Amino acid sequence: MPTLRLPSDVLAPGKFASSLFKPKHKPTFLEDPIRLLKVAADSKDLKVGKTIHAHLVIKNQISSKTGINQTNSLINLYVKCDQLSLARKLFDLMHERNVVSWGALMAGYLHNGLALEVLGLFKSMILIDNMCPNEYILTTVISSCSNCGRVEEGRQCHGHVLKRGMVFYQYVKNALIHMYSKCSEVEGAMRVLDMVPGNNIISYNSVLNGLLEHGKLKEAIEVLSMMVDEHLVWDTVTYITIFGLIAQLKNLRLGLQVHSRVLKTEIEWNNAFLNSAIIDMYGKCGKIINAMKFFSCLQTHNVVSWTTIIAAYLQNGCFEEALNLFRKMKLEGITPNEYSFAVSLNSSACLSSLRHGDLLHASAEKSGFKNHIIVGNALINMYAKSGNIAAANEVFSNIPYRNSVTWNTMISGYSHYGFGKEALNVFQDMLAAGECPNYVTYIGVLSACAHLGLVQQGFYYLNCLMKENGIEPGVEHHTCIVMLLSRAGLLDKAESYMRFTPVKWDVVAWRTLLNASHVHRNYGLGRRVADVIVEMYPNDEGTYILLSNMYAKEMRWDRVVKIRKLMRERNIKKEPGVSWVEIRNTTHVFVSEDYLHPESSRIREKVGELLAMIKPLGYVPDIAAVLHDVEDEQKEYYLRYHSEKLAIAYGIMKTPSEAPIRVIKNLRMCDDCHTAVKLISKATNRVLIIRDSNRFHHFKDGCCSCADYW
Ligand SMILES: [Zn+2]
Ligand SMILES: [Zn+2]
Repeated sequence: MPTLRLPSDVLAPGKFASSLFKPKHKPTFLEDPIRLLKVAADSKDLKVGKTIHAHLVIKNQISSKTGINQTNSLINLYVKCDQLSLARKLFDLMHERNVVSWGALMAGYLHNGLALEVLGLFKSMILIDNMCPNEYILTTVISSCSNCGRVEEGRQCHGHVLKRGMVFYQYVKNALIHMYSKCSEVEGAMRVLDMVPGNNIISYNSVLNGLLEHGKLKEAIEVLSMMVDEHLVWDTVTYITIFGLIAQLKNLRLGLQVHSRVLKTEIEWNNAFLNSAIIDMYGKCGKIINAMKFFSCLQTHNVVSWTTIIAAYLQNGCFEEALNLFRKMKLEGITPNEYSFAVSLNSSACLSSLRHGDLLHASAEKSGFKNHIIVGNALINMYAKSGNIAAANEVFSNIPYRNSVTWNTMISGYSHYGFGKEALNVFQDMLAAGECPNYVTYIGVLSACAHLGLVQQGFYYLNCLMKENGIEPGVEHHTCIVMLLSRAGLLDKAESYMRFTPVKWDVVAWRTLLNASHVHRNYGLGRRVADVIVEMYPNDEGTYILLSNMYAKEMRWDRVVKIRKLMRERNIKKEPGVSWVEIRNTTHVFVSEDYLHPESSRIREKVGELLAMIKPLGYVPDIAAVLHDVEDEQKEYYLRYHSEKLAIAYGIMKTPSEAPIRVIKNLRMCDDCHTAVKLISKATNRVLIIRDSNRFHHFKDGCCSCADYW
């Protein structure tokens, strides 16, 4: 008999060697190859496994009828050692197979993410070998159905399970619940849960996860109360899922209750994912103080908890604090990951701060995260929102992978600037690339059509393409249509579209029509629309201002006075105009009519110079928009120092002559500033970008990307 020579590393002290050389089994390890193979498989020792295999081949035991168990053990060995093709070869060569042979191979395929192969094997097993699956095989097949989303096949397995009474095996039941939950068949999952007594925590976790993933919050709460009634011990996964549910519900009271329950249990507190779920819950419930307090009390902080707290600040509108935390995290020696960068870039986008954004970009590039899709998407968003659409496009063009968010961010970025043609080009490329447009895509696309005045095309997208893609138009899409009709000057059509389309219009839609009547000087319509808005939102400051501007343009000063009185009575104050400009690492803030800036008088002089420069180009101050009931000369004085004019003048003073200037303004730009900035862009040959409360204005060569419509 040939002797079995073991490789030298097996003799080294270790788990495998010690189990091989237990003295009392000394003679059996050669006589019991199945046991040996199991040890090799469990310790994933391919070298030893192959040696045993060779030994068996020489002994010629494989092909014999008694060898079925040995072959099964070999299949199990190769599966565990990730040698699927070897396992398959052995399996195919078997003259006779039993349920274990099938099960071992299926488990291997499932483990390697080849769920469809498992389903194919299952079919052959029943049809060709005419074999009855056992509970292990059914569990493997049901799990494969979950992994590849095959609910129909899953249901058939459910039939097998019922026929053979296997539903009482807890793991079969859990696999079924998991399969239904993952395949959006939450009702199926609930049925299994309800019908079979004795649920364990794993069943509940699966159902809760499924419900949460599909936004079925009401049902999730019902399951939660079932769980409370059953007095089960919750594990970490349960708590993480429940905090996720509470975050979506934004139910702080429930959050506090569950948090106190965690503190009373014996589960491991120092779990980074559980801690992050608690921080996230407080953040989403709007309790940033609680989130921070909890975060500060943690024994250790890792990148997950840091990123969650930064995200909580972002969600609560504390963008600067979010960026400060990012810096602090790095100072504490924590290396940011792709999520940390994405969250921080989005915070910087919300501040429209190119300064922060550029720094983050450089840092992401240095850390090797530049090509990560969520970082790329956040970079595009940051550049688009910070007024550098060219840089957004550069990131977009160079990004190695794109998903629907990538495409949507670029399309809506262009649309927001009024670059309709570019937006539609990106949309065409998206279709050509085979990416399926979604709800968000069409908001960008329709607003691009609106900018370009493409009425027919807009309606085609709304009525045909969206339907083809199975997307039900929402109020945002219908609002784009109102904008589309308005911009094309079809105000009557826009008004009747709003009156007859069965959709719950919001204030944004009505304000779109109000803006349109202001731009097209259709004051009768404007008044009607303003009445609707004031009825809906009695404190909507912008509406009063626009209405008062319209009266002023009609020279109906009595009405202007009346509106101002109404605003006083309702305690609605005109928010002061504020503009920001970033120059070399400092943000300068300008408020109309204030002299707080240290270089105030020099800036005012510069405004005077610029206005004198554009007078020959046809600039006449448009005093109609001034609310003050004062002399015209005085009105001109007020206009002169609107915050954006101050910010632009300062930018021109402090930056090289070719540098674009980016200003952010809190209110809608007035007509006079718009005209003045257009002419300043021509006179100084500069690109001037202003983001007001409505959109981006990209001024170049005396024109604005909004085409004078905003
Ligand atoms: Zn102005
Ligand atoms: Zn504009």
